[in-house]
Amino acid sequence: MAVFSNRITSLFSIDYPIIQAGMIWASGWPLASAVSHSGALGIIGAGSMYPDVLRDHIQKCKKATSRPFAVNLPLLYPDIDKHIAIIIEEKVPIVFTSAGSPSTWTKHLKAQGIVVVHVVSSATFARKAAAAGCDAVVAEGFEAGGHNGREETTTMVLVPAVCAAVTIPVIAAGGIANGRQMLAAMVLGAEGVQMGSRFVASEEASAHLAFKQRVITAQEGDTKLSLKKLTPVRLLDNAFARQVQEAETQGASPDILASLLGRGRAKKGMFEGDLEQGELEIGQVSALLRDILPAATIVSNTWQEFRDASAAINSF
Ligand code: NDP
Repeated sequence: MAVFSNRITSLFSIDYPIIQAGMIWASGWPLASAVSHSGALGIIGAGSMYPDVLRDHIQKCKKATSRPFAVNLPLLYPDIDKHIAIIIEEKVPIVFTSAGSPSTWTKHLKAQGIVVVHVVSSATFARKAAAAGCDAVVAEGFEAGGHNGREETTTMVLVPAVCAAVTIPVIAAGGIANGRQMLAAMVLGAEGVQMGSRFVASEEASAHLAFKQRVITAQEGDTKLSLKKLTPVRLLDNAFARQVQEAETQGASPDILASLLGRGRAKKGMFEGDLEQGELEIGQVSALLRDILPAATIVSNTWQEFRDASAAINSF
């Protein structure tokens, strides 16, 4: 039985309106199942998984927890049709789509009874997601790690703008790693929060330990939005990020930036632990993270802080 009830907990059949973001190289079945098992919603990040790997993670997640979990599908993934077929065959109940148009796959997934949520970075994209039939949107602000919107709208501005633009429930993301930030997002109109960076610094995340340790020592200003001429992505400062900034300052073309990026940079950094030459995708909120915790502790701490902060506000 739900300990808290709103449109997001009902939509996903979860206890707490807390969602762990689908993240390449970090959110496999150990993290997703631990989060779901604790009463929040865990997401398998399919972007870094070959189709047979995704199937294996889904099957292991189903064995590890009887609670609902989701798969995040970046829509620009090369084998997207294979991923969609696996999700349907394996009866995954919820899909979060990102980095692409929600009109391409939403109808198909919904016809199979799957709940579909799309990640947006503007009110305009939120309207498109609602028109495409999505059940909810994630409004992900500029503070977020990884792929990011070109508009650079912060969570504080984006969440109320998206809430005013659509009637479907809104999940806030970008810069949220604790219960006080969660309460702020809910005051802005969100009905749930999605946290990525906080769950990278978890025991169950599949990211390399060296990357997790780098994340929990990040300082203010250590992350920057890079590669805006290609696909904007928030990266932690390192030799590779500085090389990109230098090239961008000199007006490098998209082709030059693409060859500088090459292939597999994200895997090199976040999964193999090359902290200088790899891509290290993390949010601004990493500057507030100082510990690597079990996923269930992150969920319970966040919920407790949210409840304490709500009570403190009521006494104002
Ligand atoms: P690259 O093109 O640099 O490399 C592809 C990587 O993905 C490789 O490491 C490869 O693993 C792995 N991979 C998994 N499945 C496939 C496949 N079917 N074909 C080719 N490679 C595959 O891409 P990125 O690492 O930058 O991004 C990978 C994916 O993650 C993309 O779909 C992208 O949209 C998504 N992404 C999402 C982000 C988000 O914030 N939502 C952020 C960044 C990326 P191997 O090395 O073992 O061959």
